[in-house]
Amino acid sequence: MLKYDSYYFQCPNCKAWLEGRNLKSELVNEAILYSDGKILYDNYITTPQKMIQCPSCGHNYWVEKPEEPFITTEVPPVIPYSWNTWRFYGINFSDNKGKLALITHYKLFLAKSHYDPKKEIYLRRLLWWAYNDLHRNFHYVRLKYFLNGFMSYGVWANYRRMLLEGERLFIKNLKDFNENLNRLLALLEKHPEERFDLEVPEIYRELRQFDKSKSLLENKTSRTHFTSEILRHLKWKDPRVFMVTG
Ligand SMILES: [Zn+2]
Repeated sequence: MLKYDSYYFQCPNCKAWLEGRNLKSELVNEAILYSDGKILYDNYITTPQKMIQCPSCGHNYWVEKPEEPFITTEVPPVIPYSWNTWRFYGINFSDNKGKLALITHYKLFLAKSHYDPKKEIYLRRLLWWAYNDLHRNFHYVRLKYFLNGFMSYGVWANYRRMLLEGERLFIKNLKDFNENLNRLLALLEKHPEERFDLEVPEIYRELRQFDKSKSLLENKTSRTHFTSEILRHLKWKDPRVFMVTG
């Protein structure tokens, strides 16, 4: 079954054709939601990539909305650069070096120029998720995930090694992680319309400001599964990103 719809667009600088993909909307419900708001389907992020680096000429450009006429669903006359060559700047998520490279990309974009608040929120949110990718699914280090039989010993042991190294890298970068979150928080305070539900209490939790996070959640009138899960992690004084549903 085809999970994605292809679309095509041209680099505004060198006119190279790139192929993009959209997850078919009926599959969105099968995705995994994490506490930082990142949604993954089949290991692919479902948030559209708005900052593109052309795989042909290296030009950076912003795509606010991948809509016509900027994009087309008609196959172009030349072979386009595939999605993998530019999606997440061609990095490889299966090792920590790739994850660090993604962090560097976002930091460079942020350092290179000034963005309007909406764009800066977008880039800082993706930088936040990229740091969290270093230890996302950290619960898999526990032996029970090998013992429940979903992974062979070799696969589990390799994954575990990568997560433990990722955790060390995350802690090494904690100062930058906190700086980015504080900046994102300040932007979201000024632009509440850009917030995801529960994003602010989650940021406080990840900044280890557990009491502040708890008081924000307790002020909410409606309680969801997501709210209870954050409260549970607050009780444990656990600041790590976690899987909400999946
Ligand atoms: Zn180009």
